[in-house]
Amino acid sequence: MTRSTDLIHHPYRPPEGFESVPVAVHKASTVLFPDVAAMRSRRWVDKSGYTYGLHGTPTTFTLEARIATLEGAKHALLAPSGLAAIVLVDSALLSAGDELLLPDNAYGPGKDFARHELARWGIVAKTYDPMDPSDLRRQITPRTRLVWLEAPGSVSLEFPDLPALLSVCREHELVTALDNTWGAGLAFDAFDLPGPDGARLGVDLSIHALTKYPSGGADVLMGAVCTRDTALYERLAHTHARLGHGVGAQDVELVLRGLDSLHLRYAAQDQAARTLAERVRGLPGVRRVLHPALPGSPGHAQWKAVGRAAAGLFSVEFDAHSPGAKVDALVDRLRLFRIGYSWGGPMSLAVPYHLASMRERATEITGPLVRFAVGLEAVDDLWDDLTQAWATLKS
Ligand SMILES: *Cc1c(COP(=O)(O)O)cnc(C)c1O
Repeated sequence: MTRSTDLIHHPYRPPEGFESVPVAVHKASTVLFPDVAAMRSRRWVDKSGYTYGLHGTPTTFTLEARIATLEGAKHALLAPSGLAAIVLVDSALLSAGDELLLPDNAYGPGKDFARHELARWGIVAKTYDPMDPSDLRRQITPRTRLVWLEAPGSVSLEFPDLPALLSVCREHELVTALDNTWGAGLAFDAFDLPGPDGARLGVDLSIHALTKYPSGGADVLMGAVCTRDTALYERLAHTHARLGHGVGAQDVELVLRGLDSLHLRYAAQDQAARTLAERVRGLPGVRRVLHPALPGSPGHAQWKAVGRAAAGLFSVEFDAHSPGAKVDALVDRLRLFRIGYSWGGPMSLAVPYHLASMRERATEITGPLVRFAVGLEAVDDLWDDLTQAWATLKS
């Protein structure tokens, strides 16, 4: 045998008698079988065997099991981004002629996927007012197949009455999918919510952008879909394989590493965001501060009914004396809060939005809006940064 062949057929085997804390990073496109019979009989759908890198490795199956545990689900599937997890749910469950319902404050790119890509396949997306369960009921037709939920809404952070929305969906026997990125499996139990009259209610599916808090590093894109329903899981798993939704082993390693400290980071970012949101209320030019755990914020009571924690995000609506250009200058003046999308990482971020252009329905939030995502810096340093930037409103 030549040396180059020997290098490939080296005698390495995972060492026995070695155990360490991290999950091993198993990399594979090809998975090897001892014989043809094994190749023909192995099943990946129920995770009883390994057949091809795209269908899972010990490393991806481990992260999926941990995400399912975190979420209180039974099954999880990884996707290459949070958006890809949304696309997976839509692709698995919808066919030409079907309708899906989205909250008007849903994550924007998920709405865009529905309006542009699903529309080309003859699937109709409609929005409902997430703060009005009777509006959801009005939007349901015999063609409705899937209802998305998001708690709280993207950017504007209104927290809906999840049990009430789920009750409407249950009456119509509709499949429900929650974007639970904000809750990260920690803020409330998506699969076990307190319903009316002591009943328990849960979503059928939840999705996560693992990109945010679970990774925690602002360095990886990944998503997950979770469910307790095995039939639904298998349907999603087949679509997942057909879409070719693979994830890289090293990215999985990053998320596994981040998960260990998720609850500590989440609690710290929650606390810091509440402290800052409360203080920002007293600053000039502020019409309102949006944060589900702040009394008076839209959906505060609904959050309180189901929630035990909140993510490190708050949005500030500025008043009529602070036009968009002044608010942009304020954001430009920030030093520790950097300008950039996404959240859940170590660095605090700020993004100005024009909410009206993102909504199909009228919203009470008409002033310029900035979403602040709190990182892991010291709270007093962040407060100093906010107050020095706020000085631009005076000039
Ligand atoms: C970021 C985000 C997503 C998408 O995640 P990516 O990994 O960036 O694609 C989906 N939903 C919500 C609520 C998000 O914040």
